[in-house]
Amino acid sequence: MDQVYLVCRNRVIDNIHEYNVYVDQAQGYQGLQKALEMSRDEVTAIVKASNLRGRGGAGFPTGVKWGFMPKNVTDGPVYLLVNCAEGEPGTFGNHEVIERNPQQLIEGIIIACYAIGATAAYIYHRGEFKFAAERMQQAVDDAYAHGWLGEKVAGRDDFRLDIYLHPEASAYICGEETAQLNSLEGYLGQPRLKPPFPAQAGLWKRPTTVNNVETLAHVPLIVLNGADWFKQYGSEDSAGTRVYCVSGHVNRPGNYELPMNVTARELIFEHCGGIWKGRSLKGFIPGGVSAPVLTEEHLDLPLDYGSMAKAGSMGGSGGVIVLDDQTDMAWLSTKMVDFYAHESCGKCSPCREGTYWQQNLLHRMMRGEAREGDVEMLELVSEQMAGKCFCPLGESSQMVVLGAMKYFRDDFEAYGSGKAYDGVIPMRELVTIH
Ligand code: SF4
Repeated sequence: MDQVYLVCRNRVIDNIHEYNVYVDQAQGYQGLQKALEMSRDEVTAIVKASNLRGRGGAGFPTGVKWGFMPKNVTDGPVYLLVNCAEGEPGTFGNHEVIERNPQQLIEGIIIACYAIGATAAYIYHRGEFKFAAERMQQAVDDAYAHGWLGEKVAGRDDFRLDIYLHPEASAYICGEETAQLNSLEGYLGQPRLKPPFPAQAGLWKRPTTVNNVETLAHVPLIVLNGADWFKQYGSEDSAGTRVYCVSGHVNRPGNYELPMNVTARELIFEHCGGIWKGRSLKGFIPGGVSAPVLTEEHLDLPLDYGSMAKAGSMGGSGGVIVLDDQTDMAWLSTKMVDFYAHESCGKCSPCREGTYWQQNLLHRMMRGEAREGDVEMLELVSEQMAGKCFCPLGESSQMVVLGAMKYFRDDFEAYGSGKAYDGVIPMRELVTIH
């Protein structure tokens, strides 16, 4: 199947980031105009009927999430938080949208705010996205200049809205929605206990919806063209397109916007030109490093949320990492666990201590100092983390290790016989445990 550009329209409309181009050539702000002719509930109903699922990782239905917000709030502000942290390794789809098509994101934000009754939206973005932030700020300024933001949106007395950009310090955990709320409020970026959920008590304890960039960028075209138009793409489980960010051992890595019923085989072997250096496939990670690895037997599954979950992995962030037949899965697990141990916020002990022990055991293997029973110990530590961590970060660390061991246990066992990793040195050396 061909690529379909719904959010990456910058691929087919030159300079779509400019307001005039967006309006003149890309039906810019027509979705918002149509939304403003409807009631707030009608806008939510269209998004719900479209089966747009959150592209940030969990895949929760967007319209349902909007429906959780209290209605007719008069005792204070209501917020939209735009999650633009994009910290998942192997994931770079949002970056293209905010840098190349920011006007569509801003229009989607305004429609979302209208639907949920928000009076302010915060775009919480990676601090490194400097150029993209300039592009987004320009789009916000354009929207103010043309009356789409401010005291009276489109001249309406019943809709005021401001949008603020907030750069983050790039802690991975601040991509988790409640840690992001804490961070934006100026507190340590650690997850909050749920309930209450953000719709009940989010930013400054006010009702808040947290949506991802790609999710919101889909909204203007859904409102403009209708739910059925959107559902012509993708699968029954997951409608529409997704920006698959492909990296690793392929000939043509990059972003590919494709209907969500595309299979991994088609994505990797047709769009990305197959495995590099004439090698064969060992496995692929379908949704950023937090998603457990899958193998050749899963190549013909659609890359939608339901199919990936049934296969024991996750659609996650849409970051597809391809691994050739020479990849050492124990080494790769070491790199991943290094990342999780470094990014663990330390709030709960199963993650704080579990990632530490996973890291130590893996590093001992990499140094060629593995002892009898270390593979079993790594498995046990990972199993004991399962279901006990406060947030998905710790769960991811156990899942990626157990996922790799499920299919490639031999790669781990090899270190038990005195093998030391002879390639790139793992990220950090730790104190040796005895
Ligand atoms: Fe923090 Fe890890 Fe616990 Fe999440 S799982 S709260 S990142 S220590």
